[in-house]
Amino acid sequence: MNFPIEVNNKTIIARKGETILDALDRNGIKVPTLCHMPGLYPTGSCRMCVVEVEGKPNLITSCSYPVEEWMKIKTHSPRVVNARKTNVELLLSNHPDDCLYCERNGNCELQSFAEQLNIRERRFTGKKNKYKSDPSGSSIIRDPAKCILCGRCVRTCDEIIGASTLGFIGRGNKTIIGPSFNKQLNLSSCITCGQCIMACPTGALHEKRHSADLQNALHHKETHVVIQLSPSVGVSLAEEFGLKAGKDINGLINAVLRKTGFDKVFDTSFSADLYIMELAAEMEFRLKNNGVLPMFSSDCPAWIKFMEQWHSEIIPHVSVCKSPQQMLGAVITNHYTKTYHINPDHLYTVSAMPCTAKKFEAQREQMTHKGISDVDAVLTTRELAQFIRLNGIDLQQNETEHADFPFHIRSSAGKLMAVPGGLTEALIRNLHFRLTGKDINNFKINELRSSKDYKEVKIKIGDFKLGFAAVSSVKHANQLIEEIKAGRNDLHFIEVMACPGGCVGGGGQPIVKDSGAIKARTKAIYEIDDKDPIKVSYKNPAIVELYRDFLGEPNGEMSTKLLHTSYKKRDVPL
Ligand code: SF4
Ligand code: SF4
Repeated sequence: MNFPIEVNNKTIIARKGETILDALDRNGIKVPTLCHMPGLYPTGSCRMCVVEVEGKPNLITSCSYPVEEWMKIKTHSPRVVNARKTNVELLLSNHPDDCLYCERNGNCELQSFAEQLNIRERRFTGKKNKYKSDPSGSSIIRDPAKCILCGRCVRTCDEIIGASTLGFIGRGNKTIIGPSFNKQLNLSSCITCGQCIMACPTGALHEKRHSADLQNALHHKETHVVIQLSPSVGVSLAEEFGLKAGKDINGLINAVLRKTGFDKVFDTSFSADLYIMELAAEMEFRLKNNGVLPMFSSDCPAWIKFMEQWHSEIIPHVSVCKSPQQMLGAVITNHYTKTYHINPDHLYTVSAMPCTAKKFEAQREQMTHKGISDVDAVLTTRELAQFIRLNGIDLQQNETEHADFPFHIRSSAGKLMAVPGGLTEALIRNLHFRLTGKDINNFKINELRSSKDYKEVKIKIGDFKLGFAAVSSVKHANQLIEEIKAGRNDLHFIEVMACPGGCVGGGGQPIVKDSGAIKARTKAIYEIDDKDPIKVSYKNPAIVELYRDFLGEPNGEMSTKLLHTSYKKRDVPL
C-alpha cells in the first residue's frame, strides 16, 4: 500500500512498511549513513541518518523508523545538519588525522562527510587512539586507531560471509573491533576474503600490499618478471580510472603492463581453462569409480581456508585441483622457464587478482616448490590501479593488445569463472563432452545465471542424472555440508565462492559506492561468453598444445604432480 508523506515541504509517495531512509532513497533524497548496510537489519547506532519529524521531540534515525501516512519530515534542517556535524566532529576528535598517509585518502567516507558538512575547525579534542596496527595476517592489515566503531565489518563478516571472525571487544571508550580474545589476525578464524575492507568506511582495514616488491623486481636488470591477469580484473579495473563499470579493458591493461616493464603478460583465463579440464577429469573419475561425492570446488582460497578450519572432515570431498592462479604459477615455473631458457632463480611471477585471499593462497606451503613460491606477488585490482598510476601511464592513450604466447588464448568458459555459477556452467560443458563425446547443445544454463547467492540445477548427461549447486558465501556452504552429513544425496558438484557476487565482487575489487557495479561486471562476463567463438576449455588451442607438449592428459602423472594439491585441518581459537 502506498501513501503520501511530506518531505521538506514537498509530498512524496511512501510504501507501507518501509523505513524513512528507504522512502527518501527511492525518491532521490540522500541522507548520509555510516552504520547502515542495505539488506541487513538496521541498528541506528551511528545516528548520521537522523531527521526531524514533526511532533517528535527528538531527532529520529531514519534507517530504523517506519514511514507513517502524512508524516512531516525535514532531512536537512539546521538542527539536523548540526547534529550530523557534531557526530562527525566527535568521531574526528580522536582520529589519527593522517589522511595524507592513509590507504583510503580520497576514498574515505569520514573524510567525505567532514568535507560535505563543512567542518573547518576542531571543536572537540579527545585523547588520540594509540592502538598499534596488526600486520600479522597474510592479506589484511587492521589499524584500530582509524576505526570509528560503525560495526560494518563485524556484520559483514558474520551476516554476509558467515566467518564471524570480528567482534566488539571491551566497553565504553576502550571498545575496539578485533578477532576473538583480541588475537592477531594470523591466529584468528579470518578466511582472508577481504569483504570487511569493502565494508569499512575508513582506512581501518586494508590489504597487505605487494606492489613495492614488484617495483623493485621490475627495475632489477636480471629479473624476468611476468604477470597473469585474472578473468575478472579486465571488467573491473575501468572504474578505478573513471570509466563505466563493467567496461572490458583487458586489452588495454595488457598494453599498459608491457609499458611498465613486464617481460610477459599472461591471461589467468587460460589457466581457468586448465582448471576446468582437470576438474572435469576428476569429476568423471569420481563418477565412474564410486568416488567421494559430492565434489566441492577448490578455486576460492577463502572457502578452502574456511573448510580447513571448520569442516576438515569433508577434505575427501574437495577437488584436489589447485586454483587457476596457482596452476599458471606452477606451469610458468616448471615449463615456461625450461622452454624459454629462463633461470628460475631470476623469475618473478606476479598475479593481478580481485581477491585478498589469493595473497594467502600464494603463501600456502602446498603452493611452494623447494621452498620457493610459484607466485611471488599478488596484487588486488585496487593495487594494480595504484601501480599503473605510480608508473605514470595513461590507460586511455593505449591501443588494446593480446596476452603473450604461450598462455594467451582462453575460451569464454575460463572467463565465466569470474561470476557465481560460472565455474559450474563451464564444468558442465566439459563434463558433457567427456561423458558423451559430444558438445553440449545449450551452453547457457539460466538457473546458474540468477543473481541469487544459492543456485541449484539438475541435468542429465549421458547415463548420469547429476545435481549441481553454486553458492556465493561460506554460510550457504556450511548449510549444505550439514544437509549432506544428514543424508542429502542428490548433489554431485558444489561450487563455493566466499564473496557475494563471486570474484567480480571480490574483496580486492574497487571500493565504489555504485551498487550496480557488480551487476555491470557480471553482465560484461556474460556478454564475452555470448560473443566468444571458443566456449569450451577443451577447444582452447593453447590448452590442447600444453597437454600435447608437456602435461600429457588431464589427471595424468604430470598434472597430478604440478596442478594438484592437498589440504590440512587448521586449528583456530574459539
Ligand atoms: S577478511 Fe573476511 S573473514 Fe577475515 S575478518 Fe574480514 S570479512 Fe571476516
Ligand atoms: S574497522 Fe572499519 S568497518 Fe569495522 S567498525 Fe571500524 S570503521 Fe567500521
